[in-house]
Amino acid sequence: MSSKKLVVITGASSGIGKATAELFSKNGHPLLLIARRIELIEGFNLPNTLCKKVDVTDIDTLKNAIAAAEEKFGPVDCMINNAGMMLLGDIATQDPLEWKKMFDVNVLGLLNGMQAVLPQMKTRQSGTIINTSSIAGRKTFANHAAYCGTKFGVHAITENAREEAALYNVRMVTIAPGAVETELLSHTTSKEIKEGYENWKKEMGEILNPVDIANAMWYAYNQPQGVNIREIVIAATKQQ
Ligand code: NDP
Repeated sequence: MSSKKLVVITGASSGIGKATAELFSKNGHPLLLIARRIELIEGFNLPNTLCKKVDVTDIDTLKNAIAAAEEKFGPVDCMINNAGMMLLGDIATQDPLEWKKMFDVNVLGLLNGMQAVLPQMKTRQSGTIINTSSIAGRKTFANHAAYCGTKFGVHAITENAREEAALYNVRMVTIAPGAVETELLSHTTSKEIKEGYENWKKEMGEILNPVDIANAMWYAYNQPQGVNIREIVIAATKQQ
């Protein structure tokens, strides 16, 4: 078994989560990968990796998956709450169910992930929780109101939890990416908004690659346990 410690990644089946899984695996970490599309995470064929089909909104299934991984690989040293959805829309017309889906996954799913590991980390007085927020958790963008609401929430939750966990030597990190080329936009239902976003990306020229965000997570995690990188805001140089 690897001497490196167990890392859990939610939303590991594509985009940022997939790139992060590959980077941590390449560096010898055993992994628990979590997503609903289990066939994708299993298909990565990463060594020392347990793949579990979990919807992060279901805390019991999430806790069971973590218990199974700890049984196999030892305690979770790093929990990366990365699963998220972006359903852009105009508040005046958007289906309220889309707001609910985003708050369920981006906020409550993330809280579930934190609660699934925090008690054990506090007892061990060691560990790191990395939460994926967004630049949309620091500033607002057209048609992002509900999504921004979830990501401003992620910033607030992580910083508040950091203050509490600091007493137990547990680190909390917020990673706030700008535009990254992933599947994230594909779930937005408004054709006009999708096209507008695609045009905005084209005008910018270059946007980030998921590996850029994986590298930021790796940097934050690899500081000594006594050093907490509280927040990384990372975007393409040409993004306003
Ligand atoms: P992707 O759409 O490529 O990845 C989203 C991941 O979340 C997928 O692996 C998906 O897996 C998972 N997911 C969604 N809902 C659930 C759920 N209920 N339970 C478990 N897993 C779920 O997009 P990104 O890689 O871009 O997104 C990752 C994170 O980065 C998100 O939190 C997003 O908000 C954030 N982000 C992305 C930016 C971008 O421009 N791409 C910018 C800023 C932040 P599956 O469908 O298999 O369950």
